[in-house]
Amino acid sequence: MTAIILLGPPGAGKGTQASRIAERLGVPAISTGEIFRTNMAEGTEIGKQAKAFMDRGEFVPDSVTNAMVKARLAAPDAAGGFLLDGYPRTVAQAHVLRDMTMDLGAAIDLVLEIQVDEDEVVARMLKRAEELHRADDTEPVMRHRLEVYHRQTEPVATYYADQDLLHVVDGTGTVDEVTDRIFAILDRLA
Ligand code: AMP
Repeated sequence: MTAIILLGPPGAGKGTQASRIAERLGVPAISTGEIFRTNMAEGTEIGKQAKAFMDRGEFVPDSVTNAMVKARLAAPDAAGGFLLDGYPRTVAQAHVLRDMTMDLGAAIDLVLEIQVDEDEVVARMLKRAEELHRADDTEPVMRHRLEVYHRQTEPVATYYADQDLLHVVDGTGTVDEVTDRIFAILDRLA
């Protein structure tokens, strides 16, 4: 079982790196944002509950998010491990995740935090907004999501640093350069 968490602000390129890491390790990349978007597109109950929060750049309530993650981690394809992208986003969620992994007889092995400075992140998000037309990619919502990240999710990095699980990755440069940096860390720990 390999359990990995990918942290980083919105626009840091987590989604792309998550797919690459997951492929290399042979585990599923589990993106809570992606699961919410799929549920919204399909008009499910979870999608309806998540929509108003996502559109405003707020977190979906823990009652919805934690249950969804728990169900996803119990799926057969996650039995050998998983890579989480977008969860946990608060220290409270990190505590819930610790309990969930313990119930699965596992523990978090590694946390990667992709660091990119704020101006670069906003520039990347504006570009993505043009390409993907995501409802939560307008500039005011983006600024708000970044602010929420600093306030709520950066403490999660500290939480894992205190457990010696955190590895910081420089997220500037090309996508391939960032992947190389991440793979170098994985090689070192293998
Ligand atoms: P993302 O694709 O990771 O940027 O997530 C998009 C949106 O989904 C976020 O702005 C939140 O509204 C919601 N979301 C994703 N993950 C979580 C989470 N762990 N807790 C609460 N809301 C989340």
